[in-house]
Amino acid sequence: QRAPVTVIGLGSMGTALARAFLRAGHPTTVWNRTPEKADGLVAEGAVRAATVAEAASAAELIVICVLDHRAVRAILDAAGDALAGRVVVNLTSSTPEEARQAAARAAERGVRYLDGAIMAVPTMIGSERALIFYGGPEEVYRRLEPTLAAVAGAGAYLGEDVGRPSLFDVALLGLMWTTWAGFIHALALVTGGKVEAAEFLPHARTWFDHVIAPEVPRIAEQVDRRRHPGDGSALAMQAAAIDHLVEAGRALKVDTELPEYLQDRARQAIERGHADDSFASLFEVLSAPTD
Ligand code: NDP
Repeated sequence: QRAPVTVIGLGSMGTALARAFLRAGHPTTVWNRTPEKADGLVAEGAVRAATVAEAASAAELIVICVLDHRAVRAILDAAGDALAGRVVVNLTSSTPEEARQAAARAAERGVRYLDGAIMAVPTMIGSERALIFYGGPEEVYRRLEPTLAAVAGAGAYLGEDVGRPSLFDVALLGLMWTTWAGFIHALALVTGGKVEAAEFLPHARTWFDHVIAPEVPRIAEQVDRRRHPGDGSALAMQAAAIDHLVEAGRALKVDTELPEYLQDRARQAIERGHADDSFASLFEVLSAPTD
Protein backbone atom coordinates (compact mmCIF):
# COMPACT_ATOMS: atom_id res chain seq x y z
CA GLN A 1 0.00 0.00 0.00
CA ARG A 2 1.47 3.34 -1.07
CA ALA A 3 1.26 6.43 1.14
CA PRO A 4 -2.01 8.37 0.90
CA VAL A 5 -1.77 11.86 -0.58
CA THR A 6 -4.08 14.88 -0.57
CA VAL A 7 -4.04 17.37 -3.44
CA ILE A 8 -5.67 20.78 -2.92
CA GLY A 9 -6.31 22.84 -6.05
CA LEU A 10 -7.40 21.19 -9.27
CA GLY A 11 -6.52 23.66 -11.99
CA SER A 12 -4.46 22.40 -14.95
CA MET A 13 -1.44 21.74 -12.74
CA GLY A 14 -3.19 20.38 -9.63
CA THR A 15 -5.16 17.95 -11.80
CA ALA A 16 -1.95 16.71 -13.44
CA LEU A 17 -0.34 16.26 -10.00
CA ALA A 18 -3.34 14.35 -8.58
CA ARG A 19 -3.46 12.14 -11.67
CA ALA A 20 0.25 11.30 -11.38
CA PHE A 21 -0.19 10.28 -7.71
CA LEU A 22 -3.20 8.14 -8.64
CA ARG A 23 -1.32 6.46 -11.50
CA ALA A 24 1.60 5.68 -9.19
CA GLY A 25 -0.86 3.89 -6.88
CA HIS A 26 -1.20 6.47 -4.09
CA PRO A 27 -4.68 6.68 -2.54
CA THR A 28 -5.47 10.29 -3.47
CA THR A 29 -7.94 12.68 -1.85
CA VAL A 30 -8.71 15.92 -3.68
CA TRP A 31 -10.37 19.24 -2.95
CA ASN A 32 -11.07 22.17 -5.23
CA ARG A 33 -12.97 25.42 -4.60
CA THR A 34 -15.13 24.59 -7.63
CA PRO A 35 -15.96 20.97 -6.72
CA GLU A 36 -16.98 19.80 -10.25
CA LYS A 37 -13.37 20.06 -11.38
CA ALA A 38 -12.76 16.87 -9.40
CA ASP A 39 -15.26 14.82 -11.44
CA GLY A 40 -12.70 13.37 -13.87
CA LEU A 41 -10.27 12.44 -11.10
CA VAL A 42 -13.05 10.84 -9.03
CA ALA A 43 -13.89 8.68 -12.06
CA GLU A 44 -10.23 7.64 -12.10
CA GLY A 45 -10.32 6.63 -8.42
CA ALA A 46 -9.68 9.79 -6.40
CA VAL A 47 -11.75 10.61 -3.31
CA ARG A 48 -13.49 14.00 -3.28
CA ALA A 49 -13.34 15.80 0.07
CA ALA A 50 -16.21 18.16 0.93
CA THR A 51 -14.06 20.67 2.81
CA VAL A 52 -10.40 21.70 3.05
CA ALA A 53 -10.35 20.34 6.62
CA GLU A 54 -11.68 16.96 5.47
CA ALA A 55 -9.07 16.85 2.69
CA ALA A 56 -6.32 17.76 5.17
CA SER A 57 -7.23 14.93 7.53
CA ALA A 58 -7.05 12.26 4.80
CA ALA A 59 -3.24 12.09 4.46
CA GLU A 60 0.01 13.09 6.11
CA LEU A 61 1.17 14.73 2.86
CA ILE A 62 -0.91 17.67 1.63
CA VAL A 63 0.09 19.09 -1.75
CA ILE A 64 -1.28 22.56 -2.46
CA CYS A 65 -1.21 23.91 -6.02
CA VAL A 66 -3.46 26.93 -6.54
CA LEU A 67 -3.25 30.16 -8.49
CA ASP A 68 -1.23 32.36 -6.14
CA HIS A 69 -0.13 33.15 -2.61
CA ARG A 70 -3.49 34.70 -1.69
CA ALA A 71 -5.27 31.47 -2.51
CA VAL A 72 -2.73 29.53 -0.41
CA ARG A 73 -3.46 31.79 2.56
CA ALA A 74 -7.20 31.28 2.15
CA ILE A 75 -6.66 27.52 2.16
CA LEU A 76 -4.35 27.48 5.18
CA ASP A 77 -6.92 29.60 7.06
CA ALA A 78 -9.83 27.38 5.99
CA ALA A 79 -7.99 24.24 7.15
CA GLY A 80 -7.87 25.46 10.76
CA ASP A 81 -6.35 22.85 13.06
CA ALA A 82 -6.81 19.98 10.59
CA LEU A 83 -3.30 20.48 9.22
CA ALA A 84 -1.50 20.26 12.57
CA GLY A 85 1.17 17.54 12.56
CA ARG A 86 0.95 17.10 8.79
CA VAL A 87 3.27 18.13 5.97
CA VAL A 88 2.24 20.78 3.47
CA VAL A 89 4.14 20.81 0.17
CA ASN A 90 3.19 24.09 -1.47
CA LEU A 91 3.76 23.90 -5.23
CA THR A 92 2.02 27.21 -5.95
CA SER A 93 4.29 29.69 -7.77
CA SER A 94 5.20 32.67 -5.61
CA THR A 95 7.98 35.07 -4.71
CA PRO A 96 10.65 33.98 -2.20
CA GLU A 97 9.11 36.37 0.38
CA GLU A 98 5.63 34.88 -0.08
CA ALA A 99 7.07 31.39 0.36
CA ARG A 100 8.63 32.43 3.66
CA GLN A 101 5.33 33.97 4.79
CA ALA A 102 3.44 30.77 3.95
CA ALA A 103 6.05 28.74 5.86
CA ALA A 104 5.65 31.01 8.91
CA ARG A 105 1.85 30.73 8.73
CA ALA A 106 2.12 26.95 8.51
CA ALA A 107 4.54 26.82 11.45
CA GLU A 108 2.05 28.81 13.61
CA ARG A 109 -0.42 25.99 13.00
CA GLY A 110 2.05 23.23 13.85
CA VAL A 111 2.43 22.23 10.20
CA ARG A 112 5.70 21.08 8.65
CA TYR A 113 6.27 22.90 5.39
CA LEU A 114 8.17 22.40 2.15
CA ASP A 115 7.99 24.93 -0.64
CA GLY A 116 8.32 23.84 -4.23
CA ALA A 117 8.54 25.39 -7.68
CA ILE A 118 7.35 23.45 -10.69
CA MET A 119 9.60 23.92 -13.70
CA ALA A 120 7.37 21.99 -16.09
CA VAL A 121 4.04 22.15 -17.89
CA PRO A 122 1.15 19.87 -16.84
CA THR A 123 1.73 17.34 -19.66
CA MET A 124 5.26 16.72 -18.32
CA ILE A 125 4.07 15.90 -14.76
CA GLY A 126 4.69 12.25 -13.87
CA SER A 127 7.52 11.94 -16.38
CA GLU A 128 11.30 11.96 -16.08
CA ARG A 129 11.41 15.37 -17.78
CA ALA A 130 9.46 17.15 -15.03
CA LEU A 131 11.70 19.21 -12.74
CA ILE A 132 10.47 20.44 -9.36
CA PHE A 133 12.66 22.42 -6.94
CA TYR A 134 12.08 21.87 -3.21
CA GLY A 135 13.21 23.77 -0.10
CA GLY A 136 12.59 23.19 3.61
CA PRO A 137 13.65 20.80 6.39
CA GLU A 138 15.83 18.09 4.84
CA GLU A 139 14.56 15.16 6.94
CA VAL A 140 10.98 15.99 5.87
CA TYR A 141 11.98 16.14 2.21
CA ARG A 142 13.99 12.89 2.33
CA ARG A 143 11.13 11.02 3.98
CA LEU A 144 8.65 12.21 1.34
CA GLU A 145 11.02 11.89 -1.63
CA PRO A 146 9.75 8.43 -2.70
CA THR A 147 6.13 9.72 -2.75
CA LEU A 148 7.04 12.99 -4.51
CA ALA A 149 8.88 10.96 -7.17
CA ALA A 150 5.44 10.11 -8.58
CA VAL A 151 5.05 13.64 -9.96
CA ALA A 152 8.58 14.52 -11.07
CA GLY A 153 11.47 12.31 -12.01
CA ALA A 154 13.82 15.22 -11.50
CA GLY A 155 12.95 16.49 -8.02
CA ALA A 156 15.79 18.72 -6.87
CA TYR A 157 16.28 19.56 -3.19
CA LEU A 158 17.85 23.02 -2.80
CA GLY A 159 18.33 23.16 0.97
CA GLU A 160 16.52 24.35 4.11
CA ASP A 161 15.64 27.85 2.81
CA VAL A 162 11.98 27.74 1.72
CA GLY A 163 12.53 30.87 -0.41
CA ARG A 164 15.09 29.26 -2.68
CA PRO A 165 12.80 27.29 -5.03
CA SER A 166 10.90 30.50 -5.90
CA LEU A 167 14.18 32.38 -6.30
CA PHE A 168 15.47 29.78 -8.78
CA ASP A 169 12.05 29.73 -10.45
CA VAL A 170 11.96 33.49 -11.16
CA ALA A 171 15.64 33.53 -12.15
CA LEU A 172 15.19 30.71 -14.65
CA LEU A 173 11.97 32.15 -16.06
CA GLY A 174 13.73 35.51 -16.47
CA LEU A 175 16.54 33.73 -18.30
CA MET A 176 14.01 32.01 -20.55
CA TRP A 177 12.01 35.15 -21.37
CA THR A 178 15.01 37.39 -21.98
CA THR A 179 16.66 34.73 -24.17
CA TRP A 180 13.47 34.20 -26.16
CA ALA A 181 12.97 37.98 -26.42
CA GLY A 182 16.53 38.30 -27.78
CA PHE A 183 15.76 35.65 -30.39
CA ILE A 184 12.45 37.27 -31.29
CA HIS A 185 14.22 40.63 -31.65
CA ALA A 186 16.75 39.00 -33.98
CA LEU A 187 13.82 37.64 -36.01
CA ALA A 188 12.28 41.13 -36.19
CA LEU A 189 15.55 42.35 -37.67
CA VAL A 190 16.07 39.57 -40.22
CA THR A 191 12.44 39.42 -41.34
CA GLY A 192 12.63 43.24 -41.67
CA GLY A 193 15.51 42.47 -44.03
CA LYS A 194 13.21 40.10 -46.00
CA VAL A 195 14.69 36.87 -44.60
CA GLU A 196 12.30 34.13 -43.40
CA ALA A 197 12.77 32.96 -39.80
CA ALA A 198 13.32 29.40 -41.08
CA GLU A 199 16.25 30.51 -43.22
CA PHE A 200 17.86 32.27 -40.26
CA LEU A 201 17.20 29.45 -37.76
CA PRO A 202 20.19 27.16 -38.55
CA HIS A 203 22.56 30.11 -38.08
CA ALA A 204 20.92 31.00 -34.76
CA ARG A 205 21.27 27.37 -33.63
CA THR A 206 24.98 27.33 -34.45
CA TRP A 207 25.35 30.66 -32.63
CA PHE A 208 23.63 29.23 -29.54
CA ASP A 209 25.75 26.06 -29.59
CA HIS A 210 29.15 27.54 -30.44
CA VAL A 211 29.03 30.95 -28.77
CA ILE A 212 26.12 31.65 -26.43
CA ALA A 213 25.95 28.40 -24.41
CA PRO A 214 29.72 27.73 -24.03
CA GLU A 215 30.21 31.23 -22.61
CA VAL A 216 27.72 30.68 -19.76
CA PRO A 217 30.09 28.79 -17.38
CA ARG A 218 32.78 31.45 -17.92
CA ILE A 219 30.35 34.24 -17.03
CA ALA A 220 29.34 32.34 -13.86
CA GLU A 221 32.97 31.90 -12.89
CA GLN A 222 33.76 35.59 -13.49
CA VAL A 223 30.72 36.64 -11.45
CA ASP A 224 31.74 34.42 -8.52
CA ARG A 225 35.26 35.89 -8.60
CA ARG A 226 33.88 39.44 -9.17
CA ARG A 227 36.59 39.75 -11.80
CA HIS A 228 35.76 40.08 -15.48
CA PRO A 229 38.90 40.05 -17.63
CA GLY A 230 38.18 41.16 -21.21
CA ASP A 231 40.25 38.44 -22.88
CA GLY A 232 40.27 40.03 -26.32
CA SER A 233 36.56 41.01 -26.39
CA ALA A 234 36.46 44.16 -24.29
CA LEU A 235 33.15 45.72 -23.31
CA ALA A 236 34.11 49.00 -25.06
CA MET A 237 34.40 47.10 -28.35
CA GLN A 238 31.09 45.30 -27.76
CA ALA A 239 29.38 48.61 -26.86
CA ALA A 240 30.37 49.96 -30.29
CA ALA A 241 28.85 46.84 -31.87
CA ILE A 242 25.63 47.35 -29.86
CA ASP A 243 25.41 50.80 -31.50
CA HIS A 244 25.27 49.03 -34.89
CA LEU A 245 22.41 46.87 -33.62
CA VAL A 246 20.45 49.98 -32.59
CA GLU A 247 21.15 51.78 -35.89
CA ALA A 248 20.27 48.75 -38.01
CA GLY A 249 17.02 48.36 -36.06
CA ARG A 250 16.09 52.01 -36.57
CA ALA A 251 16.76 51.72 -40.29
CA LEU A 252 14.47 48.67 -40.43
CA LYS A 253 11.84 50.41 -38.24
CA VAL A 254 11.80 47.62 -35.65
CA ASP A 255 11.57 48.19 -31.88
CA THR A 256 15.02 49.24 -30.67
CA GLU A 257 14.35 49.47 -26.92
CA LEU A 258 15.97 46.14 -26.18
CA PRO A 259 19.37 47.02 -27.71
CA GLU A 260 19.03 50.58 -26.32
CA TYR A 261 18.71 49.07 -22.86
CA LEU A 262 21.93 47.11 -23.48
CA GLN A 263 23.58 50.23 -24.85
CA ASP A 264 22.70 52.13 -21.68
CA ARG A 265 23.85 49.43 -19.24
CA ALA A 266 27.10 48.87 -21.17
CA ARG A 267 27.71 52.65 -20.97
CA GLN A 268 27.11 52.58 -17.21
CA ALA A 269 29.56 49.67 -16.80
CA ILE A 270 32.16 51.55 -18.85
CA GLU A 271 31.63 54.64 -16.67
CA ARG A 272 32.30 52.45 -13.66
CA GLY A 273 35.66 51.47 -15.11
CA HIS A 274 34.85 48.25 -16.98
CA ALA A 275 35.78 49.35 -20.53
CA ASP A 276 38.53 46.74 -20.83
CA ASP A 277 36.56 44.06 -18.99
CA SER A 278 34.30 41.41 -20.50
CA PHE A 279 30.55 41.62 -21.19
CA ALA A 280 30.09 39.81 -17.85
CA SER A 281 30.99 43.08 -16.11
CA LEU A 282 27.37 44.15 -16.80
CA PHE A 283 26.76 42.11 -13.66
CA GLU A 284 28.23 44.96 -11.61
CA VAL A 285 25.56 47.33 -12.97
CA LEU A 286 22.58 44.92 -12.87
CA SER A 287 23.29 43.72 -9.34
CA ALA A 288 23.83 47.24 -7.99
CA PRO A 289 21.95 49.86 -10.06
CA THR A 290 22.86 53.50 -9.52
CA ASP A 291 19.41 54.92 -8.62
P1 NDP B 1 -5.31 27.27 -13.05
O1 NDP B 1 -5.71 28.67 -13.36
O2 NDP B 1 -5.60 26.20 -14.03
O3 NDP B 1 -5.98 26.83 -11.65
C1 NDP B 1 -5.98 27.70 -10.55
C2 NDP B 1 -6.43 26.93 -9.33
O4 NDP B 1 -6.38 27.81 -8.19
C3 NDP B 1 -7.87 26.42 -9.42
O5 NDP B 1 -7.94 25.17 -8.78
C4 NDP B 1 -8.63 27.49 -8.65
O6 NDP B 1 -9.86 27.03 -8.11
C5 NDP B 1 -7.63 27.74 -7.54
N1 NDP B 1 -7.88 29.00 -6.83
C6 NDP B 1 -7.71 30.27 -7.29
N2 NDP B 1 -8.03 31.17 -6.34
C7 NDP B 1 -8.41 30.45 -5.25
C8 NDP B 1 -8.87 30.81 -3.95
N3 NDP B 1 -8.95 32.08 -3.57
N4 NDP B 1 -9.16 29.81 -3.09
C9 NDP B 1 -9.06 28.52 -3.45
N5 NDP B 1 -8.65 28.11 -4.68
C10 NDP B 1 -8.33 29.07 -5.56
O7 NDP B 1 -3.76 27.33 -12.71
P2 NDP B 1 -2.68 26.14 -12.85
O8 NDP B 1 -3.21 24.89 -12.26
O9 NDP B 1 -2.14 26.12 -14.23
O10 NDP B 1 -1.51 26.71 -11.92
C11 NDP B 1 -1.48 26.47 -10.51
C12 NDP B 1 -0.09 26.87 -10.00
O11 NDP B 1 0.90 26.09 -10.67
C13 NDP B 1 0.22 28.36 -10.24
O12 NDP B 1 0.88 28.89 -9.14
C14 NDP B 1 1.14 28.28 -11.46
O13 NDP B 1 2.04 29.38 -11.52
C15 NDP B 1 1.88 26.96 -11.21
N6 NDP B 1 2.46 26.42 -12.45
C16 NDP B 1 1.65 26.18 -13.53
C17 NDP B 1 2.20 25.76 -14.73
C18 NDP B 1 1.33 25.48 -15.92
O14 NDP B 1 1.90 25.34 -17.02
N7 NDP B 1 0.02 25.35 -15.79
C19 NDP B 1 3.67 25.58 -14.87
C20 NDP B 1 4.41 25.79 -13.65
C21 NDP B 1 3.82 26.23 -12.49
P3 NDP B 1 -11.22 27.12 -9.02
O15 NDP B 1 -11.18 25.91 -9.91
O16 NDP B 1 -12.29 27.08 -8.01
O17 NDP B 1 -11.15 28.41 -9.78
